[in-house]
Amino acid sequence: MSPESPIIDCHCHAGKGDGLTGPWDTDAPLAGYLSRARAAGIDATIVFAAFGSDYERANREVARIVRGDPGRLLGFALVHPDRDSGRIASMIATAVTEHGLRGIKAHRHDARLTREVCEAARQWRLPLLYDVMGDVAPIELFATEYPQVAFIIPHLGSFADDWRAQRAFLDLLARHPNVHTDTSGVRRFDLLVEAVRRAGPHKVLFGSDGPWLHPGVELAKVKALGLAPDAQRLVLGGNLVRLLRRVRVPSAMPRAVAVRAELPSAADPWERRPA
Ligand SMILES: [Zn+2]
Repeated sequence: MSPESPIIDCHCHAGKGDGLTGPWDTDAPLAGYLSRARAAGIDATIVFAAFGSDYERANREVARIVRGDPGRLLGFALVHPDRDSGRIASMIATAVTEHGLRGIKAHRHDARLTREVCEAARQWRLPLLYDVMGDVAPIELFATEYPQVAFIIPHLGSFADDWRAQRAFLDLLARHPNVHTDTSGVRRFDLLVEAVRRAGPHKVLFGSDGPWLHPGVELAKVKALGLAPDAQRLVLGGNLVRLLRRVRVPSAMPRAVAVRAELPSAADPWERRPA
């Protein structure tokens, strides 16, 4: 691995939820994930909360988890487009300036993406990871309305492997310069091959959906794409570093990434300058 090619998992959950309806809203324990990720050669991981009833509290908890391992973790803020409506701008401002979070996560299971969420992403130039749960048509609308926002649509648009949604998504991925995807949980390998071929390696990000999926298994899947070295470097971490560099406040890049990508690390004092 050359010094300029960090491997970053762009999709992992962390912390407790209070729903008790399934693992996704009950507990996302990181200890096992982190040892698996280390063994697989993953340098750093983006974490965000599991489903729950209070995302301000959950984002504080994610920030606390990241502070416990700043060399390897960076956090995104989770927002509920409906329940948090009216206070998303202030939640994101707090998440960025006080908690050091550097992206937004939202989920169609909670509610449809709103202008309020997109505008918060635009204001801070944060990457916006939005799980559409197969509801791919609105991507056409928000990607067009918010060309400055970098959207990451995980799972090729459907964790449930709805091939109709994933196939429709490939067209959106190829056509919209600000639409990206992650590889997490995708089982139909040929659709990943097609995503890279049609949209380009700069549109596809390695992600695992840990801790529930094994990061080493998900990483092996990306390596099995057999991409040229430059393309593979983009998918494994280069794309995410590029998106984080767009953020309006200096990114508290995990040290493992900063060292490999020759970026200023979170510990560098000049990172603390105001936006
Ligand atoms: Zn997920």
